[in-house]
Amino acid sequence: MPAAGPVNGRVSAWFTEYPSPRPSLPGDRDAEVCIVGAGYTGLWTAYYLKRADPSLRIVVLEARFAGFGASGRNGGWLSGLVPGDRNRMAALYGRDRVLAWQQALNEAVDEVIEVTEREGVDAGVVKGGTLHVARNAAQAARLEAEVDEELGWKVDGIAALTKDEAAQRIQLDDVVSAYHNPHCARVQPARLVRGLADVVERLGVDVYENTPATDIHTGRVTTPLGSVSAPVVLRATEGFTAALPRLRRRWLPMNSSMIATEPIPEDIWATIGWRGCETLGDTAHGFFYAQRTVDGRIAIGGRSVPYRFASRTDVDGRVPERTIGHLTAVLHSVLPQTRDIGIAHAWCGVLAVPRDWEATVTFDKSTGLGWAGGYVGHGVTATNLAGRTLADLVRGERTPLTELPWVGHRSRNWEPEPLRWLGVRGMYLAYKAADWHESRGRRTTSPIAVVADTIAGRP
Ligand SMILES: Cc1cc2nc3c(=O)[nH]c(=O)nc-3n(C[C@H](O)[C@H](O)[C@H](O)COP(=O)(O)OP(=O)(O)OC[C@H]3O[C@@H](n4cnc5c(N)ncnc54)[C@H](O)[C@@H]3O)c2cc1C
Repeated sequence: MPAAGPVNGRVSAWFTEYPSPRPSLPGDRDAEVCIVGAGYTGLWTAYYLKRADPSLRIVVLEARFAGFGASGRNGGWLSGLVPGDRNRMAALYGRDRVLAWQQALNEAVDEVIEVTEREGVDAGVVKGGTLHVARNAAQAARLEAEVDEELGWKVDGIAALTKDEAAQRIQLDDVVSAYHNPHCARVQPARLVRGLADVVERLGVDVYENTPATDIHTGRVTTPLGSVSAPVVLRATEGFTAALPRLRRRWLPMNSSMIATEPIPEDIWATIGWRGCETLGDTAHGFFYAQRTVDGRIAIGGRSVPYRFASRTDVDGRVPERTIGHLTAVLHSVLPQTRDIGIAHAWCGVLAVPRDWEATVTFDKSTGLGWAGGYVGHGVTATNLAGRTLADLVRGERTPLTELPWVGHRSRNWEPEPLRWLGVRGMYLAYKAADWHESRGRRTTSPIAVVADTIAGRP
C-alpha cells in the first residue's frame, strides 16, 4: 500500500482536530459593541474593551470558529515587524511617529507574552528572537542593508552574525551571512487564538461561531441567523474582507502556505541545533519563514500560489500538491538533515494586503464603524497593538496609541479584475525569476525585482 501523504488543509497543523463549536447567534439581539471576526484582531479588541469597562455588552460574530483565519494558521512569529513600510509612513506622517510605532510593536511582543502568562494561556511561547539569513551574494547585500535599516529605526539588540556565528544557533546549509533581531517570540498560533477566545468569554463577551456576517451597516450587522444592533460595529475580517458587500477591492487576500514535518528525533535535532527556538527566515524575494514547534517539528512557509482570481479564498486551507513539493524542497535545501523526515501536514491561509501595503486602525466616531487590518503578513503582534488602539478609539480616549501613524490611514482600492490578478501574478513571477537570477551568483539585487516592486506599487 502506498504511504499516506501529508494531511492537506483541515485549517492547519496547529489544530489537531476541528474545535467543538460555540453556539451560533440565537436570533436578533442588541449590544453596545459588535465585532465581526474572531481572530486575534477581534479578540484582542474585545479583551481590552472589556478590561477597560467590564459593563460593556460586547458580541463577537465569527463565520466559522475562533482561529479559523490566519490567526489559527500562521507561522507563529510574534515579532516587532512593522506591518507596512516605515520610510513611506515617515514621509506621510513624520519620522518620530514611525519611531514610536516601531517601539510600540517591540513592546507589544512583551505585552502579548505578559497577557498569556497572566490569563493562563499556554501558547508555547519562547522569546528567542529571529535569525535572518542570506544564502547568496545578492541576499547578503540586502541583509546588510536591512541591518542598517533596523539600526536606523533604533531597533535595539540587532546583531550582525558571521556564517559561523549563525551556525552556532542553527546548522543551515549555504548561509553567507545572518543577523539576529531579539524582538520576536515563537508561539503556537492556534493555542494563542483559542486561549484568547476562552479568556474573553470568561470576561463576559459573547462569542458566536458559525455566524457569518452578510453585511455591515451603521449600527447593525446582518447574518442569516438574525441581526445584531449596536452603536459600535468593528470589522476584523482581514483576508476575508473582500467577500463582504462593497469591500471587494479594499484589501487583497494574499495567500501564504506552510508545511509541518513529523516530529524530529533527538539525534537529528542534535545535528541541527536550534536550541534557542529562534524564528528563522531568509532574504530571498520569495522568502521562507520557519519555526521549531513546541512539539519538536519544523513548520516552514512561503508564498506558492499567491493570489486566487477575484479574491477567492481557499477551502479550509487546502493547497495544491506542487506547493507541498515546493516547500519540502526549500526545507531540504536549507536543512538537508531533515531529508528523511516525513511531511505531516500542509495548509495555507490568507492575509490582507492594502493597495499601498500599509496596515490601518480606523474608527469613525460619527458612524460608530471601525476596522483594523491589512497587516501584510505581520499581524501576530500588530493585532495586539491594533486591538488596544481600537479600544482607546472606541472609548474616545486620546492616548499615545491613538497618535500612532497607522491610525486613520487610508489606502486606495485595488484595480478591478483581471488587472488585479495579472498584476499580482506578474509580480510573483518576476520575484521568482529574480531569486533564480540571484542564486546564479549575481552580486546585486536583480533588476527584475525592481520591476516587480514597481508593479506592486511598493517603495
Ligand atoms: C500562512 C500564514 C502565515 C503567517 N505567518 C505570520 C507570522 O509568522 N507572523 C505574523 O506576524 N503574521 C503572520 N501571518 C499573518 C497573521 O496571521 C495575520 O496578520 C493575523 O492573524 C490577522 O489576524 P486577524 O484577526 O486580523 O485576521 P484572521 O485571523 O484572518 O481573522 C479573521 C476572522 O474573521 C472571520 N470572518 C471573515 N469574514 C467574516 C464574516 N463575514 N462574518 C464573520 N466572521 C468573518 C474569519 O473566519 C476569521 O476567523 C501569517 C498569515 C498566514 C496566512
